[in-house]
Amino acid sequence: MAYTPDSNRYVAMPYRRCGKSGLKLPALSLGLWHNFGHVDVLENSRKIIHTAFDKGVTHFDLANNYGPPPGSAEENFGKILKQDLAPYRDELIISSKAGYTMWDGPYGDWGSKKYLVSSLDQSLQRMGLEYVDIFYHHRPDPETPLEETMGTLDLIVRQGKALYAGISNYRPEEAAQAISILKKLGTPCLIHQPKYSMFERWVEEGLLDLLEQEGVGCIPFSPLAQGLLTNKYLGGIPADSRVAKETGALQENQITEDKLSQIKRLNALAEQRGQTLAQMALAWLLKDPRITSVLIGASKPEQLLDSLKCLESPDFSSDELNAIEEILK
Ligand code: NDP
Repeated sequence: MAYTPDSNRYVAMPYRRCGKSGLKLPALSLGLWHNFGHVDVLENSRKIIHTAFDKGVTHFDLANNYGPPPGSAEENFGKILKQDLAPYRDELIISSKAGYTMWDGPYGDWGSKKYLVSSLDQSLQRMGLEYVDIFYHHRPDPETPLEETMGTLDLIVRQGKALYAGISNYRPEEAAQAISILKKLGTPCLIHQPKYSMFERWVEEGLLDLLEQEGVGCIPFSPLAQGLLTNKYLGGIPADSRVAKETGALQENQITEDKLSQIKRLNALAEQRGQTLAQMALAWLLKDPRITSVLIGASKPEQLLDSLKCLESPDFSSDELNAIEEILK
């Protein structure tokens, strides 16, 4: 069936300015790491995208290697874009990345100019796009000079193949250097994409302060710790969960007794607040104004609708914040 977006799609979603740039991102963005590959059901992926756009989620995050197989999330997104969203291209912020293994040989990984330029060309082809809105270096490369990697992001932006440049998984010292090089080149770093959730808090040790100081946005990934910060694993491992799926990146041994006990206590607190744990975990990240957008995943449209309700969260009282710290200790 032909897709017509909801005409009220811009009513409820807040848009936050990305650092000191001209770009605003939705408070929640959708990532296509899981659930959009050739191993997944395309019609379900399509419904998730429709649900997102209908609710004002204008930002879709991809990478060369998302699938599986690698590249297939971009291919499927390209199909959905062509079929349903092509008239709305100017309402969308589409990102891609390169930095992890993509093809055999010395030019299909890490951070060389050779790899980044070829990889972005391939991504554009798979998605049927002339440009991406944001192109990221996906992880720091210990061997390639940072000047080369950042110089390539600058080149790509000047060529018009990306509108903005970003970095992901860079620790504070590496991020500071990358931001400084990009600034000198005249292509300011738009955004940093780090892993950040109640269970993963390294960004609080210097990175968020640095980004604020430099006027760079922040879009945390895996904010639900891949589904751990929801109520789904409280009664065992559901058959349709990321842990149960052969292609999922979350392993059963990551659900330790300690983790489960924390999740139970967090879940009880969320219930007291009248929300789901997923909603509380997302609201907890969004309470920090330095967070531009929170990058969620979803395997079903219903999950996305549940997560989006975090935008209606009550503010956290100091007692609640203390209780969360106590649980996470
Ligand atoms: P999340 O932590 O949001 O986990 C998403 C998973 O949690 C879903 O697939 C689903 O799992 C479960 N879930 C989501 N919402 C709910 C809900 N309301 N109730 C119950 N369960 C729910 O994020 P991801 O780990 O998927 O990462 C999000 C995005 O971040 C990626 O798609 C990618 O764009 C980006 N990313 C970037 C990385 C980088 O290196 N830059 C690395 C990893 C991710 P289930 O399948 O079990 O139903």
